This record gives sequence, C-alpha cells and structure tokens, in this order.
Amino acid sequence: MTFGAPSFARSKRRKYMVYQEYNQHRTNHGVFDAHGFEKHIVLTRGVLKGEKNVLCRISSECCPGTQLLSAECDCKEQIQYSLGKISEVDRGIFIYLLGHEGRGHGIAHKIMALANKNRGFDTFTAIEELGTPVDIRDFSVVKDILQHFEITSICCLTNSPDKLESLKTLGINIASTQNIPVTPNVVSKRHLLAKQSRGHNIVFKDEVGNPTV
Ligand SMILES: [Zn+2]
Repeated sequence: MTFGAPSFARSKRRKYMVYQEYNQHRTNHGVFDAHGFEKHIVLTRGVLKGEKNVLCRISSECCPGTQLLSAECDCKEQIQYSLGKISEVDRGIFIYLLGHEGRGHGIAHKIMALANKNRGFDTFTAIEELGTPVDIRDFSVVKDILQHFEITSICCLTNSPDKLESLKTLGINIASTQNIPVTPNVVSKRHLLAKQSRGHNIVFKDEVGNPTV
C-alpha cells in the first residue's frame, strides 16, 4: 500500500462517496490502513484485491461498549480479538458500521432497552418490550465495501447466525466463518447467555468476576 495524499473516489455500484486516506492507523495489534467509506470506518491489512477467504470482522456501532467502557456487552473484546487475528495472518478487513447503534434503532432506543434489562428482561425481550423489531440493521453497505476492495470472498469473524444470514441474503460470498471467544463478567454473562439462547455461537473464555478487571 502506498501512503500518499488522501483521495476521493466513487464506488462503482452505488453513489457512495468513498474517502480513502492511506494513513497509518496504529493499534496495539500493529498498523492498519484506515479508510473512510462515507460515515463508516474500514481498517485493512495486506493485499486484498482478488483475494479469497479474507478475514473480515463487521462490527456494529456500540458507543456504550466501545467508548464508554460499559461492562454489559462484548463489543470491545470482539474488536480486540478481530484486529489481533487479522494482524496474526497479516491480511484482512475490519468494518465498523456507524448508524448501527441499538441494532439500528439508535442510542435513545438503546438506553430505553438497557432500562428494560435492568427491570429483568434479557437483551432481546428488552427491545421487544418496546414494541419494535429486535434488529433493523442494514448491512447492504458491506457489499459495496467488499467490492470496493475487490475482495472475492470472506472468512467472517462472528458469533451471530443472524448476521451471517443477512450477509448471505445480500449475496456476499462467505467462504468460511470463525468464532470469537468472549470473556464473561458478572455483568455481561446474562447478556451473553441470552445471545446463546437465541442461537449465537458463544464460546466462553475463562470467566472474570469483576467487570473492572
Ligand atoms: Zn456493545
């Protein structure tokens, strides 16, 4: 990858404006190339063009879990794990989708759902109790992003069968999948068990008792 002046381009299939800035994004898993795809953030590593079975993590925006240090969810740990795996093989793509907060309903809705969780509902019924569908996230931009980088097929890092189904429905070529082990704490365990009960392929690492550990 050549590091030079930022450039603009339009995706071929849609009207999305792509802003590519080949800066070096330094992380505790090494350096990634950072790209803006309209409001979304994409980190890449290695040669992707024409490649098959490219490690790919698609993360939905979660401000409480990734920026406000909430111990209630596993979002931050999944990001750490995914960047680590991509770094290990020195090739992959990490896509962070803005506008996906609260499974697409937004932060205010999410806070209402969190209040319902405190009233005893699980992570799914807390949303259902609000009278809305559990998940309205739109993943269609992922197809454009993968096409932009000319990735032929992906190895999807996810525990969610629903996300896989959404991606397959869009026609995204999923060559394989990899599970993301998670570490439950006393706060997040109920959230993770609820996901497990809804078919998520959750593999628990060693439990920690204190969420601040
Ligand atoms: Zn989260």
